[in-house]
Amino acid sequence: TLGERAEKLGMRAYIVGGIVRDLFLGRDNLDLDIVVEGDAPRFLKSWEKDGLRVSVHERYKTGTVVFPGGKKVDVATARREFYEFPVAQPKVFTDSLKHDLYRRDFTVNAMAVSINQSTWGVLVDFFGGRRDLGKKILKVLHNLSFVEDPTRVLRGIRLEQRLGLALEDNTLRLLRSCVRGGLLVRLSGFRLRSELELSFRERFPYPAAKRMEELGVWEVLFPGLRLGETGRRTFRRLGAFLGRISRDFPDFRGRQWLAFFSALLMESPENIRLAAIDRLNLPESERGIVVKCLSELGAVEHELGGRSGPSNSQIYAFLRDADPAACLFWSAATGRWRVRRRILLYLTRLHRTSSLLKGRDLIELGYGATPRIGAILEKLKILRLDGILENRDDEVRYVRY
Ligand code: ATP
Repeated sequence: TLGERAEKLGMRAYIVGGIVRDLFLGRDNLDLDIVVEGDAPRFLKSWEKDGLRVSVHERYKTGTVVFPGGKKVDVATARREFYEFPVAQPKVFTDSLKHDLYRRDFTVNAMAVSINQSTWGVLVDFFGGRRDLGKKILKVLHNLSFVEDPTRVLRGIRLEQRLGLALEDNTLRLLRSCVRGGLLVRLSGFRLRSELELSFRERFPYPAAKRMEELGVWEVLFPGLRLGETGRRTFRRLGAFLGRISRDFPDFRGRQWLAFFSALLMESPENIRLAAIDRLNLPESERGIVVKCLSELGAVEHELGGRSGPSNSQIYAFLRDADPAACLFWSAATGRWRVRRRILLYLTRLHRTSSLLKGRDLIELGYGATPRIGAILEKLKILRLDGILENRDDEVRYVRY
């Protein structure tokens, strides 16, 4: 349908980038990026006439269309970018697909597949992406790639680890000299934060973090940082615990990286930590979570480490106001198994406990809509957490007498 539409408008359309790479690797990829030779805004607006939600960026000749069911497709115009100086805002000229692909980061990301009816499925691969996938290597398109955009250092390490590719020799050499030359220092806090978020959103962030250490990336980004055995162990544990909790906390995915970032900083002295946090220019809410992760580990261990206590309801009361990312960090960072077990109990079970009776039931039992209902429900929850009330009958009996 996308292809038919392009054909009707006299444009050529291609799927490009990560999705083509992942098709060859047999990996799922839900991001659909399309490039048209023609005019992306005109292509997009033709969907608007069909009542679909479309947003268009005229200046960059790009935009997005949302299909029924919520599938989002990004559409760009094949274009050539001239970098006037490194890290500048690119100027946009309508031009050929080849130039569009040439401005991409790695050969394996610079392939396109035609989706027009007449040429459906034809692979466009000017730079040997298919060959490099076969050789399992990650290779830049030209020697200035990292200079043009130093975030590619972080992207490269992330893709290398996720896809099981190896940075090709010359690419690795260029990457190293970009790191050594201090180019990463020029990245804004915002871009750096976005890249770290992506790196620490991976299914297993540890290998990339280790590789960054090996290549000296951390040292350039956060001078004086120390990532030792405790930090590394915390990283690995975080990776192992993630799956257990992400489904319970729907908005957790966007903040999980804060737990990893805290692990990265946990062994460094206070002034280095603060400088690193400042470097990212975090919004206050995120900054608060990282500071809390690092500063309250001792208090958490003290509170939750007792041999016989605390009770489930005490664990719940202590952790309920903390962000799940902080709880996860503490569970992975502590060296004390009791503390870890209690936090994981909270994250997997206690946090979603509620009384079996609802407000409605209390009204039926004759409590009227009084403010007391909230307090009674809270009390029921506490008794249920501690296993004192086991079922609905217990709760009814408790409320009655
Ligand atoms: P992911 O699965 O992490 O989303 P992806 O390769 O699809 O991986 P995106 O960030 O969605 O990554 O980028 C889509 C495409 O845009 C990439 O495949 C690449 O071709 C290009 N791209 C993204 N960032 C850069 C960059 N910094 N420099 C050059 N090309 C880039």
